[in-house]
Amino acid sequence: MGENLNLFTSTQYVINDALAKLGYTEEMYELLKEPVRMLTVRIPVRMDDGTIQVFTGYRAQHNDAVGPTKGGVRFHPEVDEEEVKALSMWMSLKCGIVDLPYGGGKGGIICDPRTMSFAELEKLSRGYVRAISQIVGPTKDIPAPDVYTNSQIMAWMMDEYSRLRENDSPGFITGKPIVLGGSQGREKATAQGVTICIEEAAKKRNINIKGARVVIQGFGNAGSFLAKFMHDAGAKVVAISDAHGALYDQDGLDIDYLLDRRDSFGTVTTLFENTISNKELLELECDILVPAAISNQITSENAHNIKAAIVVEAANGPTTFEATKILSERGILLVPDVLASAGGVTVSYFEWVQNNQGYYWSEEEVNEKLHAKLVSAFNNVYETSENRRVNMRLAAYMVGARKMAEASRFRGWV
Ligand code: GLU
Repeated sequence: MGENLNLFTSTQYVINDALAKLGYTEEMYELLKEPVRMLTVRIPVRMDDGTIQVFTGYRAQHNDAVGPTKGGVRFHPEVDEEEVKALSMWMSLKCGIVDLPYGGGKGGIICDPRTMSFAELEKLSRGYVRAISQIVGPTKDIPAPDVYTNSQIMAWMMDEYSRLRENDSPGFITGKPIVLGGSQGREKATAQGVTICIEEAAKKRNINIKGARVVIQGFGNAGSFLAKFMHDAGAKVVAISDAHGALYDQDGLDIDYLLDRRDSFGTVTTLFENTISNKELLELECDILVPAAISNQITSENAHNIKAAIVVEAANGPTTFEATKILSERGILLVPDVLASAGGVTVSYFEWVQNNQGYYWSEEEVNEKLHAKLVSAFNNVYETSENRRVNMRLAAYMVGARKMAEASRFRGWV
């Protein structure tokens, strides 16, 4: 298996491995090796300068044996079909790991929201919903935020869907503003989930969070809230980064100041002169390393130089297939993306439950339920990894694939 395996192929490879370890036949792999449904749409938008731009978007639904599919929509110039497919498969695994009644879905639009106006983004969001409306819905497929999408975009999408159906449909999408049926705690949920995984992993490695040196790559939704939680828990956040570079202080950074100065896309390092590169950041001396930015960051080139005792993947796909093997062989505890980043979809599920019942919970209630789900998911994966003598990624895939494989079997699909 080469280093250049793309995300989609390496995901297939690990799913195959996980199903074989669980004792399923090739036929199960045939069903689960790619999404059951993939829609490509073209969305014309009249831009502010009067010209028409046609955007390409996707919605992938991996497997709906367990229940409706669920997963975010990303707006990014590098979105492509294979990535959306892989991301929908990871959503299936995440939902299995935290035991939600969903299969995985994912959407994306090729665009750069950093260069678009509010009005253009609204037209694009509404156009996307009109284009995919036949295959989505509260009991079919439930979108949510992802890279460069937020609660405002969810609000426009929910409004468009409700108008199309002539029904108020808050359960169509999650990650909404609180006044439109969003859940308390949803915005911070991914970082909360990562924090819970860090706490559990630290226990396994006898590391005290108080005083632990933490390095975080990325200062977006997950990275910034996580820096705050770690800082407030008494850890020393020695480095953070954004797409332009990284900041490092061995005595710990002033996180509150950085949070105050970051822009809405998470950029903050451009305000400083003394920066290091993202590459250097990954190899810093620390106890806990959290890649919370983009994919393919820890590779066979730098995996030998990682100094952390624990690596917790808050981003999707930050560690390559080869690098996963190297880190495991070096005894580094790797908490894989499909587990560590499952906090977001867990609170999305709580949001959907609250929408369906029309009764809303307090933030404490949401956090308590999130904590219980993530602690049990972490320990389930950790024990599978110990008992079956497999690395944490394979263990997570085994736990994540089991439920959808069982559901597919009971439905008579395989
Ligand atoms: N986009 C997030 C993820 O990748 C959240 C998905 C959701 O809330 O449905 O897990």
